[in-house]
Amino acid sequence: MSYEDFVEHARRHPGVLSERQRAELAAGQKPDALFIGCSDSRVIPSQITGAEPGRLFELRTAGNVVPEYAPDSASAEMATIEYAVLQLGVPDIIVCGHSHCGAVTALTVAGRGLEGLPALCCWLGTDGATAAEVRDPAVRAESKRHVRDQLRTLHEYPFVRDRVAAGELRLHGWFYEIDTGRVHVCPQAAEDDFLPL
Ligand SMILES: [Zn+2]
Repeated sequence: MSYEDFVEHARRHPGVLSERQRAELAAGQKPDALFIGCSDSRVIPSQITGAEPGRLFELRTAGNVVPEYAPDSASAEMATIEYAVLQLGVPDIIVCGHSHCGAVTALTVAGRGLEGLPALCCWLGTDGATAAEVRDPAVRAESKRHVRDQLRTLHEYPFVRDRVAAGELRLHGWFYEIDTGRVHVCPQAAEDDFLPL
């Protein structure tokens, strides 16, 4: 596909939804979950979950990274999370990592293309020189560990922590395996491996 194909599809897009559906969406949104996923073109939240328009509020970042809570130097990502939780009142947040993740690979393996990408290095919190022995080119174990790290960071957001404690919000860690299409879920216990969904 090319840009021109995208234009062709966009011209046909008004017919994808009925007039009634478009009117309902125009009236407002009340999404069922905030989905925090990687910007990777192979990880499509609505395709994985089957969510119709209006059901998922999405935050997609390089490496599905959740930045540390720092309201004095707020980022677009922090603002998006704040809006989803405090304004829209989503009852669930899914942090979804994935196999074959370029960002996790760059975080884990030395010399994996971060040279000349200072903003990405800064975002991932690495100097690009980290070296580790990684046997799995799909970085499955590393990506799952990375999801746990993001969940921990997310839980440190005061309004997230408060709502979780009040039973009004649930956090979920997912791992999407690109080569099998399967989703695995992060268990409560830190020592347990992810389980098939
Ligand atoms: Zn990724």
